This record gives sequence, structure tokens and C-alpha cells, in this order.
Amino acid sequence: MSSDLTLILYLISAVLFIFSLRGLSHPESSRRGNIYGIAGMALAVITTLSTKIVINYFEISIAIIIGGSIGTLIALRIKMTALPQLVAAFHSLVGLAAVFVAAAAFYRPEAFGIGNFGDIHRSSLVEMSIGLFIGAVTFSGSVLAFCKLQGLVSGNPVTFKFQHALNGLLLLVILILILFFVANEIESYFWIIVIISILFGILVVIPIGGADMPVVISMLNSYSGWAACGIGFTLSNNLLIITGALVGSSGAILSYIMSKGMNRSIISVILGGFGGEQSQTQSEKDSDKTFRQGNAEDAAYILKNSESVIIVPGYGMAVAQAQHALREMCDILKREKIKVRYAIHPVAGRMPGHMNVLLAEANVSYDEVLELEEINPDFPMTEVSFVIGANDVTNPSAKSDKSSPIYGMPILDVERSGTVLFVKRSLATGYSGVDNDLFYRNNTTMLFGDAKKMCEDIVKSLDNI
Ligand code: NDP
Repeated sequence: MSSDLTLILYLISAVLFIFSLRGLSHPESSRRGNIYGIAGMALAVITTLSTKIVINYFEISIAIIIGGSIGTLIALRIKMTALPQLVAAFHSLVGLAAVFVAAAAFYRPEAFGIGNFGDIHRSSLVEMSIGLFIGAVTFSGSVLAFCKLQGLVSGNPVTFKFQHALNGLLLLVILILILFFVANEIESYFWIIVIISILFGILVVIPIGGADMPVVISMLNSYSGWAACGIGFTLSNNLLIITGALVGSSGAILSYIMSKGMNRSIISVILGGFGGEQSQTQSEKDSDKTFRQGNAEDAAYILKNSESVIIVPGYGMAVAQAQHALREMCDILKREKIKVRYAIHPVAGRMPGHMNVLLAEANVSYDEVLELEEINPDFPMTEVSFVIGANDVTNPSAKSDKSSPIYGMPILDVERSGTVLFVKRSLATGYSGVDNDLFYRNNTTMLFGDAKKMCEDIVKSLDNI
């Protein structure tokens, strides 16, 4: 295939990726977005395999079969609630790939057309070391994020004295090493940059915990894009440069949007130290408080006698896979001419868009699903808020308690509705480990149980009323 044709096909792939991102920005167009993405990637792979640079199709086929089988197996088995850690694990591979490509280019520069060993073009050395640095940071940061989200290490922030100064110092050392490496091309510098960057990646992620983890995942996504962009420069591959830049910038924009959604500055998230344990234990706090408890029949009665209901889904609904039973319950309410809407908090669940995807899977109409800013003014006019497996996103302490680690995060104002029905299994805290005062309010009724089972029981009770 001629290099002109390759360039044109790469450009078409890049345009398809842009359409894909556009489509993925809304649940309604997201399937189309996925199709554009698949088409763009298929075209990119076929084009690359048709170029003259391919030496051995056999080895590539083996790699595709092994990688493709592992990917398919993971995609089929992964639980939706475990997607954040999967994304982190995949990002670590992108980072590692950037390090490997940089190492290959360093030891065999002639294969990349960037000079000879010991005499590599200066500009290529700059690109290589930037890709190396970002790749190594992405690798270690993503591995640690995976371990935190998977519960292999504590998810709490780890902070210590002079942490930021140490990070700043490490960054400076890396920059100086890169300058020396570019000037002298000394092999040992290459590997020292890798080691210090790996350490830097760990130190950047350890102070982050609790509800800030989603932003970190999205930032690592952005880093993996820039790492791919770096590989693109080393390989002189325009498509990788464009795709890397797209992933890098969209990840950065998503991090910004999520930080804004939590009313936190991105800098404070990066500096970390959020989401720690509380000074008082949960049982100590609960012991002197009272709460009202109900059952499925009570809930069915309250729901059926209301005119408007707002459903607030959260992570627990995802774990219980309660979306279908919930929709069935809402269908019955709608048949009774009760106005039903769903309120989606930007960080409900464990990843951006988590709730929207689950509700779409259960065929909930998009018009009934409203964002926080759209629905919040309606809570005071609503008779019942049905909070199902959500906790942090409804916690009013975020609005008033300056000592709360979630202070400043926008909250769904469920407490302003007439009655709050809270479906969860216990009084336990949510992801950020913060107690929720809402459980003990006069207008709250706790419905203890698994979210799916509770919805099924309410459906039965509604049928019997
Ligand atoms: P929370 O984690 O605050 O609360 C979920 C609640 O669900 C828990 O308190 C738990 O209580 C309950 N629960 C768990 N399993 C079940 C079940 N089977 N049936 C019924 N209830 C169940 O979730 P929210 O959605 O309110 O908030 C999301 C949190 O996750 C935020 O802190 C957010 O920052 C963070 N986060 C968000 C990400 C995103 O991008 N959206 C990514 C990573 C983290 P109990 O044990 O008593 O049942």
C-alpha cells in the first residue's frame, strides 16, 4: 500500500474516532458512537497491517489471537461495577506499551528511522523521553489505582509531611535527567528515568482516595492518551499522534467536568488527601440516633398514594442489578398516573454515566432521566423520593459540614421532598465513608434489603393493593 493511501486511511480512521467521541457524549447516540469507534479501529488495524513495515504476519497473528481472546473473555465476564478498576488496568498496559516502544526505539533506532544506537536524532530523543516519562507514570499510577479500587490495598488517602515538596523534587530530577539523556544518550539515564517516573506515578496516586478516585481514573485515561501520542511521535505514526491527543484531551476535559460536578478544583484533587476515615466509628455514631424502618408493603402504600415520585439510583442499584425490577415498579406507578422521574448525580455509581447506562439497559425512556441541576428545584414539589442503593450523592452534610470530606460536592436535595424512602441493606456508609444524617430524619423511612429483592417485593405489594 502506498504511503499516501495509508495517510488517507489513517485520516479517515481519525475522523471516525472524532465521530465516536461525539456519539459517546450522549446515551441516545452512544451505540452509534461505539460503532464509529469500532469501524475506525478496524480500519486503523487493517491499514497498519497492509503497510510495508510489517515483517512477520505470523507473530502478529499470534499476538492478536492471545490479546483478542483475553480481551473478549474479560469483556464477557466483567461486572459493570468492576469497570473502573478494569479501565485502570487497561491504562496501565498503555503506559507499559509506551515504555516498551521507547526502549525498542532506543536500542534499535535504525528500525524506526531515527538514527543509530548512540547517535539518535536529538528531536527523537526528546519525544522518546517524554513518552517514556508519561508511560512509566501512567503504568505505576494505574496499577496503584487498580489495587485501590479492587481493594487489594487500602483505598484511603496516604499522606505524609513534605509530600508535595517530594513530588516537586522528583519532577525536577526527572526533567534534569531528561536533559542529560537528550544531551549524552547514556543508557543508564534511560532506566533511571523509568524508575523515578514509576515512583512518581505511585506518589501521585497514593494521596488520593474516597470519592476523588473517579477523577484520578479519568486523569490516568488522559495520561495514557498522551503516552500513546508520545509513541506516535517515536514511530512517526500520524494516527497514533491524533488518537493519543484525542484521548489525552478528552480525558483531561472529563476530569475537569467531574471535578466541577463535585465542586472541587482539579488541583486539589491532584494534590489529594481526600476521603479518609472518620474520627468516630459508624456504630458509635448510630448508637444514639433513631430512625424509622418500613417494609415493602409500607413503601407500596406510600408510593401508590403519591402524585409524583423521583427515583435516585446509586451504586447499590448497580450491584444488585435492580434496574429491571425498578423499571417494572415504575411502570406500575405510571399506569396509576403517578409522575415518575429519575435523578442522576454526575458521580452516582462507580464511573461516569454508570446510572444512565443501566437505566438505558432497562429501557427507561431518556426523557424521564434528568441531571442534578435539572431535577434539584423539583424536590420540594415532589411527594416521594425513592433512593435506591445511593448514599453519598444524597448526603446533606456535603452542603453544610465544612469538616466533611465530601463538603462542597453538589447533592441531590432528596430531603426537601415530602417523604424519603431509602433502600439499602443497613445504615452503613457509602464509598466516601461518611455517615448520612438523612437516615435519621423525620421524613425518612429506611427500607432495609437488597435493592432488587425490595423492588420485586414492592411490585408484588403494588399488585395486591
Ligand atoms: P455510595 O457508594 O455512596 O452508596 C451506595 C450504597 O449502596 C451503600 O451505602 C450500600 O449500603 C448500598 N448498597 C450496596 N449494595 C447494595 C445492594 N445489593 N442493595 C441495596 N443497597 C446496596 O453510592 P452513590 O452512588 O450514592 O455515590 C457514588 C460514590 O462513589 C461517590 O462517593 C462517588 O464519588 C464514588 N465514585 C464514583 C465514581 C463515578 O465516576 N461515578 C467512580 C468511583 C467512585 P449498604 O451496604 O447498607 O447496603
